[in-house]
Amino acid sequence: MSTEMELAARPTHHAVDGTFCNPWPDSTPRGWRDLLRWQRARRGQPRVPTPAHGSLPMAEPAVSHPRASVSETTATWIGHSTILLQIGGLNVLTDPVFSERAFPVQWMGPRRIMAPALDLDDLPPIDVVLLSHSHYDHLDKPAVKRLAQAHPDAAWVVPLGLGRYVRQWGVRTLVELDWWDRTEVRGLAVTATPARHFSARRIGDRNRTLWCGYAIERMGRRAYFAGDTAYHPEFGEIGSRCGPFDLVMMPIGAYDPRWFMHVVHVDPEEAVRAYTDLMGPAGAAHRSLMLGIHWGTFRLTDEPMDEPPRRTAACWHAAGLDPEHLWIARFGETRHW
Ligand code: ZN
Ligand code: ZN
Repeated sequence: MSTEMELAARPTHHAVDGTFCNPWPDSTPRGWRDLLRWQRARRGQPRVPTPAHGSLPMAEPAVSHPRASVSETTATWIGHSTILLQIGGLNVLTDPVFSERAFPVQWMGPRRIMAPALDLDDLPPIDVVLLSHSHYDHLDKPAVKRLAQAHPDAAWVVPLGLGRYVRQWGVRTLVELDWWDRTEVRGLAVTATPARHFSARRIGDRNRTLWCGYAIERMGRRAYFAGDTAYHPEFGEIGSRCGPFDLVMMPIGAYDPRWFMHVVHVDPEEAVRAYTDLMGPAGAAHRSLMLGIHWGTFRLTDEPMDEPPRRTAACWHAAGLDPEHLWIARFGETRHW
């Protein structure tokens, strides 16, 4: 095959060297030099107080064991980007993180403010696990190992390249997807969707595994899990190809300082904009609940930890959206959708 043909065949988010990249302008995450600059600037500023451990609002999860009825559809926010979905008689888990710290070692790195609202041992039998990317606040090796052992029949869906990590940790049934690939596992239709982010887990593996969100569908009910993402121009296409969605799980936290974070995480204004893009021109007609995720659990960035819900609610109001359709969950809260 000629080089020209190879170029034509290579998707724009696949780099020539085999790594992955964001196909949109201004999408290269900041490097080590800027990370140091941010840390230095942080030292000179008055520290925003961190909420006391366990002090954010909590609720008692209402999970059906072992399964909800086929006609029931619920979501339980376990914390950060970890959500248990009970949909059409299946139990689906997103980005399962249960460790105390989101870091390679447990003696340093971002520590939890809020414990997981459900213990790993209290989960119902898991049918499908969706993993968005390799960052420590989304991919928790001890949790993967324990889940693989306790739920050996679960099917795992991961972006390209991530399979070899979780396979080493005991996962047996696994599907790797590229952006827009669609598969069906355990009766759940899953499409991996584009996201503007990056991946890194250890030195030398930056962008060697892909990052993505997921659109899922079962028995006519549709949900979208955005994973970790900055704002990008393809939310409208995700909505038109995979929607309309009944539930949108959208990150609303970890956004400051913007000069550093705008290429990797949406802020509340962009989260609301992404939601309206997903809805499309006819969006107002469809009732879609947005659950704000990726906040309040680990201190990762500079904004006050309880700011994301307030700012998201203000943007929601300013955009003229129905307040009934924004779900700022308490930790552990379950809701029908
Ligand atoms: Zn990430
Ligand atoms: Zn994250």
